[in-house]
Amino acid sequence: MALSVPQSTPSCTSSNLHSTSPRTFRIFGSQLRFLETKQTHVRLLDSVKSNSALRVKASREPQGVTREIINNEQKCTQVMENESDLFSEMKHRFLTFKKDKYLKNLEHFQNLAKVQTPKFLVIACADSRVCPSSILGFQPGEAFIVRNIANLVPPYENEPSETHAALEFSVNSLGVENILVVGHSCCGGIRALMSMEDNQSSSFITNWVRIGKSAKLSTKATASASNLNFDQQCRHCEKVSINQSMLNLLTYPWIEEKVAKGKLSVHGGYYDFVDCAFEKWTLDYKGSESKGDGEYSITNHEFWS
Ligand SMILES: [Zn+2]
Repeated sequence: MALSVPQSTPSCTSSNLHSTSPRTFRIFGSQLRFLETKQTHVRLLDSVKSNSALRVKASREPQGVTREIINNEQKCTQVMENESDLFSEMKHRFLTFKKDKYLKNLEHFQNLAKVQTPKFLVIACADSRVCPSSILGFQPGEAFIVRNIANLVPPYENEPSETHAALEFSVNSLGVENILVVGHSCCGGIRALMSMEDNQSSSFITNWVRIGKSAKLSTKATASASNLNFDQQCRHCEKVSINQSMLNLLTYPWIEEKVAKGKLSVHGGYYDFVDCAFEKWTLDYKGSESKGDGEYSITNHEFWS
């Protein structure tokens, strides 16, 4: 089977609230400013009591200022309470994990503390909705995971990236036996790739997603033949780019060598979170060899729904 597409309160930010860095002073500085302002206002009112001229002027102006101070304080307090709730929930989840998983499997986790031997390297999108551990149930120690915008694998020749480093470490040092590239529905990174103009000014995002350019060109060729609308093109490209990333993996000599020897397998996966379905396939390296001309085959194509 040929490798084809398987169907403001700017000073009240969270970082300010919880950082112990100098930024912390911004929020506390902001609070202090509120206090200073309030105290100044109180002092003003005290002096107003003994100065009738000022009393007339003060009676015209401070209400708006006071209201603004109170509003700002309320906003800031609300942000702090929301942040507190978030971390209370996070603390609860961590302690639940410790009680229900870590302590109940203490020997396993103590062994994990000494060494990791994951069977999988997973390359997934950084999208918050597609956490591989949540979707595929990877437990601590089971998968080395690198996440980037649009789950792209750059070719070997590209500039070094965190994905290059993760590939080198997981394949050569950890000896993972499987690489799984996981794409997903409604991928913003792929949409950015499909939307960008060739001469678009560069940004970190455009420079990164440009890695998928050949998937985009392939999609555009299919789109003109099949009359796909833009959303359909993006969906098509989400899958084409997975295959492109799988092929890019083979540009790493130490990956291709292991794949050729059958010590490493390359898989593709597609998570559709609109219908909650998962599609999985595997690169058939040996089957591809007989094809030649850069064509590759896939095998073990499955749909989970
Ligand atoms: Zn994505």
